[in-house]
Amino acid sequence: MLIERPPFLYRAFFPGAHWRFHKEEKVVYLTFDDGPIPEMTPWVLDVLDQYHIRATFFCVGDNVRKYPHIYREIMERGHLTGNHTFHHLQGLKVRSKTYLKDIQEAEERIESKLFRPPHGHMRLPQFFNLRKRYDVIMWDVVTRDYSCLMTPEQVFDNVKKYTRNGSVIVFHDSLKAEEKIKYALPKSIEWLLEQGYQFRLIGE
Ligand SMILES: [Zn+2]
Repeated sequence: MLIERPPFLYRAFFPGAHWRFHKEEKVVYLTFDDGPIPEMTPWVLDVLDQYHIRATFFCVGDNVRKYPHIYREIMERGHLTGNHTFHHLQGLKVRSKTYLKDIQEAEERIESKLFRPPHGHMRLPQFFNLRKRYDVIMWDVVTRDYSCLMTPEQVFDNVKKYTRNGSVIVFHDSLKAEEKIKYALPKSIEWLLEQGYQFRLIGE
């Protein structure tokens, strides 16, 4: 529970960061972290196309450097991108100067006003600095598709258990998540549609 749905106190640490949008409406916001990579991102794009859903991809700058054509495809297919640092740095493990410089390096390849901190960790000075020029997008539901402790079924269960109006939901277009997302993403989309949720793009 503490992982899948971040607790109120944790949210209160980061005033002005976004976890949910439009709580009064039956809408959800799909997001995908850590790509783009050829093994996973095109598969995710095809699934989203199949259901006519648009989503937000928080990209790692170094992956955009390696696979610029996949990054372009994300945008050409109508999705949004966000900055997820250049080297997937954890804010608590590095000095603020290093962290902010890494994000700036990613900015050269990712043109976006959206930022998501890897692992959801940031020092407060880092957050306050970033908040000035970014919308910091956290999440309301972590599917935990990246975790080797989870089965594909449990990842799908997390979506069913924790999604509510306005949830920002996180999946990963990463190799660690492959087995789980390939099962849980289509299942989750079908389930969310059955429940009457509409899929929105951040900012809509
Ligand atoms: Zn990440």
